[in-house]
Amino acid sequence: MTQAAISLRALSKTYAGGKQALRGVDLDIPRGSMFGLLGPNGAGKSTMINILAGLVNKTGGTANIWGFDIDEHPRNAKASIGIVPQELVFDAFFTPFETLELQAGLFGVPPAKRRSMELLDAVHLADKAHVYSRTLSGGMKRRLLVAKALVHNPPVLVLDEPTAGVDIELRQQLWDYVRTLHAMGTTVVLTTHYLEEAEALCDRIAIVNNGAIIANDLTSVLLSTAGDKKLIVTVDRDLSEIPAGLGDRVELKNERVLTLTYDKRSRNAGQVLAAVAAAGLGVIDVSTQEADLEDVFLDLTRNHG
Ligand code: ADP
Ligand code: MG
Repeated sequence: MTQAAISLRALSKTYAGGKQALRGVDLDIPRGSMFGLLGPNGAGKSTMINILAGLVNKTGGTANIWGFDIDEHPRNAKASIGIVPQELVFDAFFTPFETLELQAGLFGVPPAKRRSMELLDAVHLADKAHVYSRTLSGGMKRRLLVAKALVHNPPVLVLDEPTAGVDIELRQQLWDYVRTLHAMGTTVVLTTHYLEEAEALCDRIAIVNNGAIIANDLTSVLLSTAGDKKLIVTVDRDLSEIPAGLGDRVELKNERVLTLTYDKRSRNAGQVLAAVAAAGLGVIDVSTQEADLEDVFLDLTRNHG
C-alpha cells in the first residue's frame, strides 16, 4: 500500500466555546503532491493545520502524518512535518540566523547537520541573517518562517495562508521556492482562500467549507466544473444604464465599463463581444476574469445541495 503523506479520519474539533470547527473530516493527501486546502475564512483550514502541528487538540477522529499517528507516535509525526503558521509569531529579539539555530536545536539537529545559512540563502534572507527579526518586513518574516519550518528537513511542508501580507514580487519568489522544494520531492500542502493561488501552485485541491470537505479533486477537474467567466469591457461612450440585448448577467461597473458574466461551456468571448457590438457600442479595451473561488463554490453547493 502506498501511504498518504497526511491522512485524516473523522477528524473533528469543537472549541471550548462550543464552535464546531471540524465536522468529521476524511482526507488523504498523497505523497509527492502539491495540495491545496481551499476555503473561505472560518472554514476550518487553520484548525486542521494546527491539529497537525500539535497546537490544537482534536476532539475526535485520527490524524496521521507520514504513517505516524499523532497520538501514538507524536515525535515521529512531528519530525515528519514542517509548518508555516498563518500568524507571524516568533521572538523579535533573535536574528534570523539565531532563530534557525534554535529551532534546529529543538528538533535535535546536530550542529554539523544544520543548514541555517543555506536556508536563509534559499529564502533570500542571507543579507538579513544577523539583524533583529523585528526589523524584517512582513514578507521577510513569512520567508523566515518558511526556512524555520524546514530546519529538520521534513518530507511534508505545510503553509497556512502563505501569501498573507506578502507583496507581489516576493510572493512570486516564495512560490518559486515552494515549487523548487516540491520538485525536489517535498510534499507541499497550502491553505488559501485565493483560488488563483491554489490554481497556480496545486495539482490537487480540496475545498473546505463549514468544517467539512465538499470537494477533493485534480485542480483541472475542479476548475472545469466552474463554468462562469467574466469579460470586463471598456466602451467608447458614457452609459447611464445597461444597454438592452446583453442579457441579465451584466453590470455597469462605471459609466464606461461593463462586466459581462457568461457560462464558458455554452458561449465564448467572441459571442459576448459580438453582442456588445450589436448593442451599438465600440469596444476600447477588454480583460477577462476566470471563475473565482466563489463561483466554484456556488457551483459545488448547487450541485451538492
Ligand atoms: P480558517 O483557517 O479556514 O479561516 P479556522 O480554522 O481559523 O478557519 O476557524 C474555523 C472556525 O473556528 C471559525 O469559526 C473560527 O472562528 C473558530 N475558531 C478558530 N480558533 C478558535 C479558538 N481558538 N476558539 C474558538 N473558536 C475558534
Ligand atoms: Mg486560517
